[in-house]
Amino acid sequence: MSEDTYETQLDLGPLPMPNDQDAMWAWKLWNALQIPIEKSGAFDAFDREGGTWDMPGVGRFQRTGSEELTLTEIHADMAADSMGVSVWHKRDWIVVLGQLIGWRVVIDRVQKADEDPLTPAPEAPLEHIGKTHVCPCGMIYTLLPAHSSELRVKLNDDGDCLNPHCDIVIPLPWASYMCVVNDSAVIAKQEAQAQMELSHDEEEGDAQAPLPIPINSEGVPVVSLPDEEE
Ligand SMILES: [Zn+2]
Repeated sequence: MSEDTYETQLDLGPLPMPNDQDAMWAWKLWNALQIPIEKSGAFDAFDREGGTWDMPGVGRFQRTGSEELTLTEIHADMAADSMGVSVWHKRDWIVVLGQLIGWRVVIDRVQKADEDPLTPAPEAPLEHIGKTHVCPCGMIYTLLPAHSSELRVKLNDDGDCLNPHCDIVIPLPWASYMCVVNDSAVIAKQEAQAQMELSHDEEEGDAQAPLPIPINSEGVPVVSLPDEEE
């Protein structure tokens, strides 16, 4: 199916278009999934499946290439919810999100479909709604309710921070309920550090730039040592 066909058939229904934050989130999450390795001769031992991602209300996606996700299972109530959002709108939203970050999302190779939604994460009790936790690395986790229009995720059971460069465990209740994740501070910090390293390298580079070694017509370096000059 060509991209053009996708575009004409995609229907987000009442869902808003994915925004930059959604795109950054998808880029990080999907790139964190294990890349599949196919059997190839001597490397049979390393054959492995791509990582999977379960999206609540849709189903299971599997990484099937360096920049490809495939919807392999649908676990969702086929009827639209009270907001008029159906599983198909959410599926198409993921396809659009993929297009934003240059990933192909394959939707016509589903192997299994049923109407039992994947066990949804429990909703945070009202007294926790709106609470924010800032990880020391800069990731911000906010407990928002189910009707939030922002993409929500649940951390894994160990509460691992979603910043791949952070080993800090996120405490309860953020680790147990659906959170909106804001990584703009982490990204800003990484960009600033990269710029600082760059300017540091440039300063050092000026002082330590090696002099080019002269070579003869056969490409052999010509080095004159002091005692050869006699
Ligand atoms: Zn962190």
